[in-house]
Amino acid sequence: MAARKQFAVIGMGRFGSSVAGALTNLGFEVLAIDKSEQKIQEISDQVTHAVSADTTDEDALRAIGVRNFDVVVVAIGADIQASILTTLILKDLGVPRLIVKAQNELHGKVLNKIGADKVIFPERDMGLRVAHHLISPNILDY
Ligand code: ATP
Repeated sequence: MAARKQFAVIGMGRFGSSVAGALTNLGFEVLAIDKSEQKIQEISDQVTHAVSADTTDEDALRAIGVRNFDVVVVAIGADIQASILTTLILKDLGVPRLIVKAQNELHGKVLNKIGADKVIFPERDMGLRVAHHLISPNILDY
């Protein structure tokens, strides 16, 4: 039987911590990374492992061994520069699948160009989902 996928989630804002917690609850191994020690303390009992690191530092990412994870989610929001640098480094390190949260259209374009496998716009994507559910005849939940 194939081993269960291992996930790393970078950035423990509302989006990143929700993704990390949900994956853990689904039974997957999740490493949470944030440069804030406080964020790491807050999330530590909701994920498998939690480490504090600045992910714009290539050596730090190497030391953590992020390239051994099947999927890495970059959920750094406001600091667009940090999001782009982190994505670029992860791509260079050979992470198999990179999912990145974008702050706006232009940020999303850059992320696509530097090799993000999937770019997510949480508010826009959720807005679309809600709209589609509202017009569907069988509204169960959204
Ligand atoms: P959300 O909307 O999901 O709450 P946000 O868009 O407000 O998130 P931020 O709060 O800017 O996003 O960033 C999310 C997290 O990313 C923060 O906890 C922040 O500490 C972390 N972060 C920012 N830069 C780095 C970095 N260089 N390395 C590691 N973590 C970082």
